[in-house]
This record gives sequence, C-alpha cells and structure tokens, in this order.
Amino acid sequence: MSSVINPDLLPFADARRVVELRAAELAPVEPEFTSLLDATGLALAEDLRADRDFPPFPRATRDGYALRARDVETVPAKLRRIGVLKAGADSSSVVMAAGEAVEIMTGAGVPEGSDSVVMVEFTECEGETVTIARSVKPGENVVPAGAEAIRGDIMVAKGARVNHAVVAVAAAVGHAELAVHRRPRVAVLATGDEVVDINLPPGPYEIRNSNSYSLAAQIDESGGDAIILPVARDDAAELALMLRKGLESDLLLLTGGVSMGKYDLVEEVLASLGAEFCFTGVAIQPGKPVVFGEVRMNGRNKPFFGLPGNPVSTMVTFQLFVRPVLDALRGAATTPLPFAQAALMQSLSTKTGLTRFLPGRLAGSQETPTVELVPWHGSGDLMAAAKANCYIVVPPDREKLDAGEAVTILLQ
Ligand code: AMP
Ligand code: MG
Repeated sequence: MSSVINPDLLPFADARRVVELRAAELAPVEPEFTSLLDATGLALAEDLRADRDFPPFPRATRDGYALRARDVETVPAKLRRIGVLKAGADSSSVVMAAGEAVEIMTGAGVPEGSDSVVMVEFTECEGETVTIARSVKPGENVVPAGAEAIRGDIMVAKGARVNHAVVAVAAAVGHAELAVHRRPRVAVLATGDEVVDINLPPGPYEIRNSNSYSLAAQIDESGGDAIILPVARDDAAELALMLRKGLESDLLLLTGGVSMGKYDLVEEVLASLGAEFCFTGVAIQPGKPVVFGEVRMNGRNKPFFGLPGNPVSTMVTFQLFVRPVLDALRGAATTPLPFAQAALMQSLSTKTGLTRFLPGRLAGSQETPTVELVPWHGSGDLMAAAKANCYIVVPPDREKLDAGEAVTILLQ
C-alpha cells in the first residue's frame, strides 16, 4: 500500500467536527406521544418539569430519631421520646421542642422543630426516654424540601435519551405518557456485484451481505429503524434508482463503491442526483474513503453517508461519523465518542499519516485497565471485529506505541 496521503483527506477531528456542525442544522423527526414503558431509548421531545417540590417535605434518609442537633452536642444525651412517624404519615401536626425526639422512618417528613436525624443504631430507647450515643450536625440525614427541585423546575431537559433513570423521573412527576421523537428511518443500501443476500447461496467468488446487517444492528443500538434495501449492482442506472428509494428515508447509508476502483460508482451517481459533498475521504484507517453529504429530495435536505465496503471499515465509520447525524434526527443531544485510556499490553508499529482505529480487547481491572491488539488481517476481517470490544486509537504522528504505555481506546 502506498503511504502517499491524498491531500483532500480531512484529518479525523476535522471530519468529526464537520459532521457535528451539519448535524446541528438538521431538524429532528416529528414528536409523538408514547406510553412511558415504550419510551426507553427514544429522545425526549418535552422538558420534564417538577409538578411539586422534590422532596415535597424535609425527608428523613435514615431510620432513627428526629431531634435538634444542639441537644446532642454532648453525648450520651437523654431525650424524651414523644412519638413515632412512619413514611407517609402526616408530620405537620408534630412540633418538637428542646429535649424531645421523635422516632422516624426513612422517607417520613422530619417534623418542625427538629433539624436532623440520628441513626437508630446509635440510640437506645427505654419507655419514654431515648439515649443518643452520637452527635449529629444540623441537617444530617435530612434532605430539605425542594432541595432536588422546586415546582416548575426542569428535572430532565428535552433531548435526553429516555433510560431507566429518566423513566423514574417521569413516573415521579406523574407522566404515564411522554412526548418523544420517533425512531428515524435509516435506509441501508449495500452495493457490489459480488454481494449476495444472506438467504441465497453465494457463488464461488461471491460474498454474503454482512454490512447491511451489521449496520442494521448499529442503527438499532443507536435508536434508529433500519430499512434494508435490496443489494444494488455496480451499475449507474440501478444505483440511481435505488438511491432515490433510499432517500425517501430520513437518512441513507450506502456501503461499498466509494473507493478508487473502476466500478466504485457511488459518488458519481450521488453527484448526478445533485448531491453536495461535505467530505469524500478522511485520514483514518480503516475507513479512509468515507463520504458524507446531503441531497435535496422532495423539498428536504437528506443526509447520506457512503461507507467503505470492507466490513470493519463500515462498522468503524458508522461509529465515528453516523451517530451525530442519527442523534440529531432523533432529537437527542450528540453522544460524545466514548474514549478511555488503558495500558497497552504489547508494542505496535504503524505508518504515520492516518489516525488508526485498530481492533482491541479491553481487559484488566478497574485500577489498571489493559488493552491488547486483536490479531487481524485488515479491514475485511470480521472475526477480529467480533473478538474486539474496543479500538486502539493510534494518532497520525505516531509510528510506534510502546508496551505499557497509556493509550487512547474507543469503546464500542
Ligand atoms: P468496495 O468498498 O466496494 O470496494 O468493497 C470493499 C470490500 O468490501 C470488498 O472486498 C467487498 O467485497 C467487501 N464488501 C462490499 N460490500 C460488502 C457487504 N455488503 N458485505 C460484506 N462485504 C462487503
Ligand atoms: Mg464494491
């Protein structure tokens, strides 16, 4: 392989920025209402606001005794037990005076006149008298009313992905339904005369279409609905027809046909449909020929990506570039790329000029994460991709990474 780098190749960070800037201008797909239980994974199309103060009353966070911190500055201290408050009980009728304590349960309202809760473990009760063995600071084991949110505050802003924690907030403010954006429809168009559908037996020089399926899985994981189109031949007229079909979706992903080969027709056909290209190559490996742009179709600008056909290139370029666009279409805030650091297990050498994303296996412990290179035979190596759980990121100016060095990894 020649190490001469095409001057039109954008550095990785610039290409990512181009995608993010373009994505910021895309309108999200329309919102709809869905039941709370069906909203997981979708992006909120409304702010979730507090319908009351959270907590609505000063809340005990421990089982124990509500009292005045001042009364237990010196311990042991003997206080008068004047009653018991369980969670859900009305605490407004209780007003405490100096020298008094109320037995209280987690989740109950801390009564007026007291300012803290001593855990039951540090108390001993005999009849009307409770002996407190430990001092507390004012406010200890109590969450003041409105500490988490005041009525009307935004608790979760629109654009957030609905996960279990957001579902909890929605439930807590009484939303049985949520306004969310539907999953964007993402058309997937594999190209190549040698590529056959997985339901057909491949001829001796044919290969099965794995890219459409790996992309569908990535689209699903990223909150989109994949629409797999039939494989297009390396034929300009057929490609143009299928491209038009694909552009009816919210986003179009093509694979294959973007390299320098004689039958790599994707760019040419996109251009004939009036496409505007934001980039037609990025200084990365795998994935160098990746193409990104927009085509005007039915009064709307439709974003598209031409991803390289090599299976690992397809996967990597989806993760590096497609997600911001998909996030924008689904009305979600951009997911930052999940970079981390780990100690490299063995040294590795590459050529300079490209940012490399090499299949890696993250292991080790919380204190010392380690990563090792998965042996691979280039960007067509599906097995290596399936063994990897991250990519080792090699900066474009590094010829060698040393064993033991802390390297950047991109989690999958
Ligand atoms: P291309 O980008 O069209 O030059 O293809 C690069 C390599 O990826 C070739 O070896 C193709 O056979 C392979 N390839 C292309 N499309 C697919 C696909 N849909 N599934 C699996 N491999 C593919
Ligand atoms: Mg091809």
